[in-house]
Amino acid sequence: QHEEALAARSKDNLRSPICCILGHVDTGKTKLLDKIRQTNVQEGEAGGITQQIGATYFPVEAIKQKTEVVNQDGSLEFNVPGLLVIDTPGHESFTNLRSRGSSLCNIAILVVDIMHGLEPQTIESIRLLRDRKTPFIVALNKIDRLYGWKDIPNNGFQDSLSKQSKAVQNEFKERLAQTKLAFAEQSLNAELFYENKNMSRYVSLVPTSAHTGEGIPDMLKLLITLTQQRMAEKLMYLSELECTVLEVKVIEGLGTTIDVVLSNGVLREGDRIVLCGLNGPIATTVRALLTPQPLKELRVKGSYVHHKEVKAALGVKIAANDLENAIAGSRLLVVGPDDDEEDLEEEVMSDLEGLLNKVEKSGKGVCVQASTLGSLEALLDFLSVSKIPVMSISIGPVYKRDVMRAGTMLEKNKEFAVMLCFDVKVDKEAQAYADEVGVKLFTADIIYHLFDAFTAYQKELLEQKRRETADHAVFPCVLRIVQVFHQRDPIVVGIDVVEGSLRIGTPIAIPKPGGDPVVLGRVTSIELNHKAVPIAKKTSPSVAVKIEAANQPVLGRHWEDKDTLYSHISRKSIDTLKDHFREEVAKEDWSLIVQLKKVYKID
Ligand code: GDP
Repeated sequence: QHEEALAARSKDNLRSPICCILGHVDTGKTKLLDKIRQTNVQEGEAGGITQQIGATYFPVEAIKQKTEVVNQDGSLEFNVPGLLVIDTPGHESFTNLRSRGSSLCNIAILVVDIMHGLEPQTIESIRLLRDRKTPFIVALNKIDRLYGWKDIPNNGFQDSLSKQSKAVQNEFKERLAQTKLAFAEQSLNAELFYENKNMSRYVSLVPTSAHTGEGIPDMLKLLITLTQQRMAEKLMYLSELECTVLEVKVIEGLGTTIDVVLSNGVLREGDRIVLCGLNGPIATTVRALLTPQPLKELRVKGSYVHHKEVKAALGVKIAANDLENAIAGSRLLVVGPDDDEEDLEEEVMSDLEGLLNKVEKSGKGVCVQASTLGSLEALLDFLSVSKIPVMSISIGPVYKRDVMRAGTMLEKNKEFAVMLCFDVKVDKEAQAYADEVGVKLFTADIIYHLFDAFTAYQKELLEQKRRETADHAVFPCVLRIVQVFHQRDPIVVGIDVVEGSLRIGTPIAIPKPGGDPVVLGRVTSIELNHKAVPIAKKTSPSVAVKIEAANQPVLGRHWEDKDTLYSHISRKSIDTLKDHFREEVAKEDWSLIVQLKKVYKID
């Protein structure tokens, strides 16, 4: 057994750490990856770098070669077999995927444009990385855009910087200081990588250029150092299977396939697998394990290399039956000889069920749709903190049936007839249907943009409702007449506000015991010392008030100058205040309404 354990720990059984690259759009993520992948022209060889499904594999030999300029003393030792870098679009949400509590992403590169600093998606990425406790480094990219920068292709950063003019060095210092400050505002300590004495407390900033290749050797060296430092030793050995669905895709000739990342263990052709589906668990058998043809052999479009067996870590496409309803972000389990398939099905479904538990039981709320289980979870967490109720959830592109689900809110609560769609496509027919019935679709790549759009929409709906119902919104007040200036058409009186507040538009009446109230009309102007004001309160001095209406009652016959005037409330006016103006009605106003209800004999 001891021998077996030793064998399991042999060099052949090492597994590669998985790296995600994330950051705001246009910071240079794609370009950086391209640059690392780039073939060494002289040797015409990529050193075994292989393009996989949704990922690129960098064997340690290639990394050694690429870090040589900054590792001339050989002080960096390499204990990992290589590095698997995820390069699928939407890899941000991959960062949020977990298997058994720990992030599938072992390490991350957060790319920041040195000329732009921290941008909205950068901040969202930081939040994800923090939540998942994923170690990361920051590539401060585009240093070649510092004014007057002189290129030294593929050089180490420190040497390149020392060869720049004073002006360039100064600009760099300034931008570095700004960046550190911006990170501090996110409660993160950041330090230039070669000045960072404590990698577990300070985030390392590596200046890079994806155009000239400068700083990239430093970035790779740092990645390896940090991974080796932070990854528990056992994580570096092949062990139990850990596999996650990245994307579900229809491929001509293969049907629906899943692109997965095998982050640990071994997967074989013919394996019985279990994964999470939208309409229940999926159990099927691996028909083929596929990776793309190597670059030089990529003559026939769409042809793949078939594998009998693959070892972690890698990105691979799985062809099998019944994958139509598979969901991105799902875990994939292999049914072993001693496993009960049903137990495993329950296990994979628990991830989705955990999220379904966050759905509002009252059935009142918005519909939420996201690209993967991971991004859906992040979105739901955010909405829960923001107190936005969620009625239903789904994963993948938005189709008409999804909009129909959101449409059930139109009758009950129009403000919730909304779909918040994160990082997913909306089908044309679905959009057209939504426009037709009045379901609002909001799409965004940044979670809190969805929140902003939703709250702005709610405010707009509320304003609209307020405009529509303004005539029925009556704030309570009790008024004492000080002087009658004009008896009729219009009535103009000097008054003191005894209780509540008087507003322009408020209807005024005098309740009569045992009869209908005498209605004087609506307030059309309020003047304080000959100046128009919109509102008079209990604390205001006396004001002159104009009250207008058709057929106004006659002073001396219908009303007296010693009468107390009241705002003319009704059941409807009370409901309107409750429904649309709640935040504007103070506590005292509600108790005054209770008194006025008695005066007017409203139930
Ligand atoms: P992504 O959206 O983060 O993947 O960004 P891209 O890699 O597509 O880059 C966005 C733009 O920035 C492209 O026009 C790139 O050529 C440019 N870019 C990326 N990296 C650098 C860099 O280091 N220096 C300069 N000058 N431009 C860069």
